[in-house]
Amino acid sequence: GITVNSISKSFGHGEGAVQVLKDVSLTVDTSEICCVVGASGSGKSTLLNCTGGLERPDSGTITVTDQEITSLGHKALTRFRRHHVGFVFQFYNLVPNLTARENIEVCEYLSRTPMPLDELIDELGLGEHQHKFPSQLSGGQQQRCAIARALVKRPAVLLCDEPTGALDYEMSREMLRLLEQVNQDHGTTVVIVTHNQAISAMAHRTVTVRDGRVEDVSLTPSPVPASSLSW
Ligand code: ATP
Ligand code: MG
Repeated sequence: GITVNSISKSFGHGEGAVQVLKDVSLTVDTSEICCVVGASGSGKSTLLNCTGGLERPDSGTITVTDQEITSLGHKALTRFRRHHVGFVFQFYNLVPNLTARENIEVCEYLSRTPMPLDELIDELGLGEHQHKFPSQLSGGQQQRCAIARALVKRPAVLLCDEPTGALDYEMSREMLRLLEQVNQDHGTTVVIVTHNQAISAMAHRTVTVRDGRVEDVSLTPSPVPASSLSW
């Protein structure tokens, strides 16, 4: 699971400093789906990036799968992130001159026990697309490739920043079904940052961020299956 304990984060220095996270605490249990919702600029991405060790908070502690990452030095933090955290971004961030399969392979070496590549590619419906370049794939296929790349090292947590932000309605629903499946099949803890309130119905936990603070946490004992979501 994930424990964020009273973190604060500012950007800039002196008079121009802006406090983006203000004493934020939250918990995500192992194998939960957690949605983080809130207005643009409220601090969602910063919170996600701190949680995944891409950014460091100014104060407070963050523990991911029993490792307090805020106490790690640069090298150890990088190693932890590589081995244990998967990221999925709005615009996929695939390498344009590598095929879908090669994009996934890039991350295969990050685990001593990577997922079997062919199985993973099949699971994500990329079999017939694996030798195409990103420019030859639809947005949904590119995002599936990005998810495969994140999953191949068997991360304990999968952190997704607006994973459906660049997808149309049908592709978005398909993507959410896939994230739900990953959570159920692999027990991966999944955090989804989203503008779309409706998505939070599929989450076990919804964290609402407002102006750099956690405004609300709600638990959903029986979330709606992603296949039943509509908006
Ligand atoms: P959105 O929904 O639009 O993606 P968000 O909730 O993810 O927004 P953040 O990206 O976390 O918001 O940004 C929160 C605030 O921090 C914004 O005011 C943003 O301008 C500022 N900010 C984020 N990153 C930086 C940075 N590297 N340097 C300076 N300011 C930053
Ligand atoms: Mg953001």
